[in-house]
Amino acid sequence: MTARVLVVYTGGTLGMVPSDQGYVPAAGLEARIRKQLADAAAILPSYDLLELDRLIDSANLLPADWQRIGQVLQQHWSDYDGFVVLHGTDTMAYTASALSYQLRGCNKPVILTGAQIPLGQPRNDAVDNLTHALLLAADARISEVCLCFRGRLLRGNRARKVNSTAFAAFDSPNALPLGRIGIDVALYGDRLMAPGTPDFAFPDSQPDAVALLMLYPGIPARLVDAALDPDQTRGLILQSYGVGNPPNADVTLMDALGEAIDRGVTVVNVSQCHQGPVNQGAYATGAELNSLGVLPGLDLTPEAAFTKLHFLLGLGCPEDIIRELMVRPLAEDCTPA
Ligand code: ASP
Repeated sequence: MTARVLVVYTGGTLGMVPSDQGYVPAAGLEARIRKQLADAAAILPSYDLLELDRLIDSANLLPADWQRIGQVLQQHWSDYDGFVVLHGTDTMAYTASALSYQLRGCNKPVILTGAQIPLGQPRNDAVDNLTHALLLAADARISEVCLCFRGRLLRGNRARKVNSTAFAAFDSPNALPLGRIGIDVALYGDRLMAPGTPDFAFPDSQPDAVALLMLYPGIPARLVDAALDPDQTRGLILQSYGVGNPPNADVTLMDALGEAIDRGVTVVNVSQCHQGPVNQGAYATGAELNSLGVLPGLDLTPEAAFTKLHFLLGLGCPEDIIRELMVRPLAEDCTPA
């Protein structure tokens, strides 16, 4: 195989080692990978490994890390045919979504993967996930940001971590898989994005710019205000019930949302349900969000809605453009209404 792949190691279980406190990230992954993949070398593309300075358990991911990872990919874009990003599974769906927006017009494969059990440990899933990711990163039919786990290739901004312990830890509940790796590697060509013309952008995403708030029975209105820093927060992702219903009988809660919108906060409504879109007009409860100016987030995952809003705010897009782009597909992140 003549393709050249760059593997970017950001941290996560795949490269972790045991410690007294449980698994921790560890530098020096390249030698361990080369040893573990030695038997597969003949079928793999040639690859280089680049280890980031700050290796993290992805529970410690910050919005600034998306910029850091994206810029590393950009710096090496013309030197390689494809990229593998090794990432912790806990927040991999956030990073996959963020990269899909940063790398607009992507024309090469960018495959995120990780593991539930570290490389070198008995019964690990790291070797398989890494092997599959390398093969897919060398496949010129892919021109987008994907997540590969347990033999399935998923669109990055559609993926979610759905199981904390199973090897099949990821799913894309609102989009069909892009490929399956069994005895053969099957890519579903009609679902893949066509190659674009790179138009990359890596906005400086401030941690307080977007908040994520899940509604629950009895949620007090003060939590809406508490979630929003008056000087910093410009976006709020609201996770409501079912097809997008809030407890509209709570007038103070509705007023708090309306006041936030009046102050210029962009509020986007996504569902707490694992699958399916929001439809803010289906019930009177949800219809009230329309009159307040809350945007229906279609079938965006919470991770995609959150990173999309971060991206658009970080770019400094005017409010009307943000409102327009949040309710239609960008990098095929949602199904049009
Ligand atoms: N806590 C780990 C992480 O997200 C879990 C994993 O990688 O599977 O970095």
